[in-house]
Amino acid sequence: MTSLLTPDTPVESVPAPARQTPPTAVERFRPQARRRLVRADFLGALGWLSGVAAVTLWLADGGATGFSSLAGTMTALGIVAGLIGMDLVLLMLLLAARIPFIDNTIGHDRALEIHKKLGKPALYLLLAHGLFIAIGYGAAEGLDPISESVSLWVNVPDMWLAFVSMALFIAVVVTSLVAVRRKFPYEFWYAVHLLTYAAVATAIPHQFSVGGLFAEGTWQRWYWLAFCIATGAALLFYRVYQPLAASFRHQLTVSRVVRVAPDVFSIEMTGRHLERLAGSGGRFFFWRFLAAGHWWQAHPFSLSAEPVLAMSAAQKSARQGKLRITVRNLGDGSARLAKINPGTKVAIEGPYGMFSTAARTRNKVVMIGAGVGITPLRSLLESTPFEPGQATVLLRGHDESELFLGQEIMSLCQARGVTLFYLTGPRSGGNHAWLPQSAAAAGFTLSSYAPHIADADVYVCGPTPWAASVIRDVQWAGVPAEQLHYERFDW
Ligand SMILES: Cc1cc2nc3c(=O)[nH]c(=O)nc-3n(C[C@H](O)[C@H](O)[C@H](O)COP(=O)(O)OP(=O)(O)OC[C@H]3O[C@@H](n4cnc5c(N)ncnc54)[C@H](O)[C@@H]3O)c2cc1C
Repeated sequence: MTSLLTPDTPVESVPAPARQTPPTAVERFRPQARRRLVRADFLGALGWLSGVAAVTLWLADGGATGFSSLAGTMTALGIVAGLIGMDLVLLMLLLAARIPFIDNTIGHDRALEIHKKLGKPALYLLLAHGLFIAIGYGAAEGLDPISESVSLWVNVPDMWLAFVSMALFIAVVVTSLVAVRRKFPYEFWYAVHLLTYAAVATAIPHQFSVGGLFAEGTWQRWYWLAFCIATGAALLFYRVYQPLAASFRHQLTVSRVVRVAPDVFSIEMTGRHLERLAGSGGRFFFWRFLAAGHWWQAHPFSLSAEPVLAMSAAQKSARQGKLRITVRNLGDGSARLAKINPGTKVAIEGPYGMFSTAARTRNKVVMIGAGVGITPLRSLLESTPFEPGQATVLLRGHDESELFLGQEIMSLCQARGVTLFYLTGPRSGGNHAWLPQSAAAAGFTLSSYAPHIADADVYVCGPTPWAASVIRDVQWAGVPAEQLHYERFDW
């Protein structure tokens, strides 16, 4: 069933809402949702446990006995702050390592959100570590904190590396603050961010060469070493080896670039073994086009079509298939991509994100997209399972020319029995700013289009302020947090 609301359709004649399907006896995605919640709890518990372990290391070494004097108290606080700070840094690295278990449980966005949130506390703890140690050691030796710091730098093995590490951590955290970050190009921010690895690498030697806490042969030393090595190994495997292996396995090559609208184009690619990416509809990859002027930038773009094995027998036997992304020219890099030549090789990292069937919790589904945010909905609509009558799609644009891939989506909706609304026209103000003025003035809300929304998974993708307004309405409509899936296109 396909219904349309176009600018020519008076809003009073909004088609009857989607046929209400009776509650289905079996919610096929419930077990998957339950497993995901259990995995999320497990990850949360692991995070907290690692913090508890850091404090336990310190207690087991008699850390609490230092509180008998001022110098001892400062030193004890310094050590425990350093341990927890370093623990947070390792957790941050693991969250950014794109480990599938984490990505498929809480999603790439959420993992990076937690990563960002941990940044400041980690830095404060590491600063407190340096400060308290300088005061504590200094008080014990009758030196002021500055003279003590100089003495530590000069006399203690590997300590100068710890000072370098601290300077690097400060640089990374300061450039990550939103206000500062916006002033620099993404590549600059990214390059500075890579210094985190140098910061961690330079922080580690003094931990093993200075303290009795990690003395040779102690379990504390083994635990800490294992934690550091596991983090490094996860980063190497998932950030370096996996992307290289995926790029080599799939051998992606640009086959053609198709104009979708004046500033929007699709890049089609052929590749091998794409059946291994089945079900990735809605997810995103980092794409690196291996051509002059492009190879040094990796862009995140979502699939706008589910990967397919190509249809001819010869292509099937060669396991050849097709992939597609749709790109809006929003900056220098994306503008240049419009001119990419067929035959260009493409390296990929991914698929990432939870904007896919993997996030489903309910049989019913509502997809709401605007602008280029419509394009991942196109591939999700193609790939995610539902019965006819159980899905609703709302596409928002200023006019129909902004409903990118709208014709393809309409065909898919017709074929799969989806209720489709085109919402066009100038935006309204007030509470439902995402709706066209005419619809909001006539009293329509999200529930007018998707009456079953509280019992559906809701996927939202579009410009950030627009999406924020949709998400408010989704929440007002009584949709629980675990049923809301939102893909952000900004960084
Ligand atoms: C998960 C996700 C999925 C996306 N899917 C699509 C899509 O399907 N179609 C589409 O048109 N746009 C999509 N975007 C937005 C798109 O990545 C940016 O518009 C594009 O990278 C801008 O590059 P630029 O060089 O033209 O712009 P600039 O603003 O000049 O960007 C400079 C650099 O920043 C990088 N960059 C910009 N935004 C991000 C980001 N969010 N994360 C990491 N690096 C970034 C670019 O790759 C480029 O290297 C998506 C973004 C994200 C985060």
